[in-house]
Amino acid sequence: MARYTGPACRLCRREGTKLFLKGERCTSSHCPLIVREKSGTPGPHGTARKKVGEYGLQLREKQKAKRYYGVLERQFRNYYEMAVKKEGVTGENLLTILETRLDNVVYKMGVASSRKEARQLINHGHFTLNGKRADVASILVRPGDVVALRASSRGKEKFKQLLDGFDGKNAPKWLDVNAENVSCAVTAVPTRDDVDFPFNEQLIVELYSK
Ligand code: SF4
Repeated sequence: MARYTGPACRLCRREGTKLFLKGERCTSSHCPLIVREKSGTPGPHGTARKKVGEYGLQLREKQKAKRYYGVLERQFRNYYEMAVKKEGVTGENLLTILETRLDNVVYKMGVASSRKEARQLINHGHFTLNGKRADVASILVRPGDVVALRASSRGKEKFKQLLDGFDGKNAPKWLDVNAENVSCAVTAVPTRDDVDFPFNEQLIVELYSK
């Protein structure tokens, strides 16, 4: 599957906000957005881009959400179509659909330090969904599902490091984490309040409904 392979920090600089794409580095003083002189928009004319119209605002909000969740345009558009068909507010539906991606669940349960790392771990077959191997990061989980680290992976050196201090206590309330066997049960559909990034999802809806 196609994916963005360029520098992650460039995406944050383009959006002018932390998208938390690089794990621990994002909360350290090494984050380029903390280093003021590096925080301008990338490119030779980056800082000159000042005026943003309505369309520009909508586009940036969409790009921000895509980049935050690590989703490319086609799939993001598909999620939007799903959100339209669901009952409720389309923008909120869109965000909650994105929250239920398997890579987001693995990240939120606290096993991976970023969604990108979670995707890699999933692609390498380290996780199960309801007892069956799940190696597709875009699977959408539902209440009642159980995501778990495979028993055969737990002893690997990589996971010994990743799971150092793992207790699942920072997981959102819609995930019931069992730290002992590194698994979590999905107890509910996430709500808008469970999305811990200040998206203006209405701008995304306005963009797509033109
Ligand atoms: Fe974004 Fe993290 Fe890079 Fe900071 S360190 S710019 S938050 S990816």
